[in-house]
Amino acid sequence: MYEEIARQLAKTNTRLVAVSKTKPPEDILRLYEKGHRIFGENKAQELQEKYEELPKDIEWHFIGHLQRNKVKYLAPFIAMLHAADSLRLLKEVNKQAKKHDRVIPCLLQFHIAEEDTKYGLDLVEAREILDSEVYKNLENIQICGVMGMATFTDDEKQVKKEFDELHHIFDTLKAEYFAEDPTFKEISMGMSGDYKIAQAAGSTMVRIGTLLFGERNYD
Ligand SMILES: *Cc1c(COP(=O)(O)O)cnc(C)c1O
Repeated sequence: MYEEIARQLAKTNTRLVAVSKTKPPEDILRLYEKGHRIFGENKAQELQEKYEELPKDIEWHFIGHLQRNKVKYLAPFIAMLHAADSLRLLKEVNKQAKKHDRVIPCLLQFHIAEEDTKYGLDLVEAREILDSEVYKNLENIQICGVMGMATFTDDEKQVKKEFDELHHIFDTLKAEYFAEDPTFKEISMGMSGDYKIAQAAGSTMVRIGTLLFGERNYD
């Protein structure tokens, strides 16, 4: 499966974040041995434990909602934070990154699905963050793009519409704030069930778990 997905994504230079949450280190090493280096997790403690145990050239992406009091555990090593959704979180990431003399790449998470969730910004809220003096003084974070999750549905038209919307948000912010900034280039969208739709809609990074590692068992 890994080879098939990798081949499919290579056509558009879309990168694969292998979502290894709940899965043991052996599963990660199996992909690592095939040359894969980008893995995604969504629990701070689980990620910290895996980081300590596994090879240090793995690029760890944090893809879930991150509580501010957990940022300090991840700041020394995370390669990217996919779900930044408040100025308060960005401030804390900046503060902890500074302690380690790092700049942490972050994506702004947008709420594009029909489902009700408390996570994710809209364009108005994103502009409020990007216009603020506080944000402009954050030197140890780098906003590299946007992230979103589509509605969990079989309705492909609906999913496509939501991915198109995220792409539009990306284009809008690029034009308004990042026109001169080549590092603002990522659109993180697409999971096991919808990655092909996301890829066709211009995703630069998909986050796939189940298709690579099998169903997750949460008990
Ligand atoms: C778990 C998770 C994924 C991967 O989901 P699959 O359906 O298993 O591919 C992707 N993105 C986020 C934010 C997740 O939490």
